[in-house]
Amino acid sequence: MSAPARIVTANDLIDEFVGSPEYIARMVEACIMSHRFEEARQQRIASGQEHVCVVCGCSETRACAEGCCWATETHCSRCV
Ligand SMILES: [Zn+2]
Ligand SMILES: [Zn+2]
Repeated sequence: MSAPARIVTANDLIDEFVGSPEYIARMVEACIMSHRFEEARQQRIASGQEHVCVVCGCSETRACAEGCCWATETHCSRCV
């Protein structure tokens, strides 16, 4: 006699994954990567290598969330 097999749903798997050391490690890594990217972007902007919108701060490697393009030398299409 064996106990009826427990049906594992996708939610069970997600619950198990979220909060696991692997999940936390991945989240931390993703966070570090985005910080590094932003730091490098700010450095390129500061050194004049990257064009930036004076209003919202979007630039060549990070457009506005809804997407934008350059409208003038200093403003993106969302900020004119
Ligand atoms: Zn923009
Ligand atoms: Zn802008």
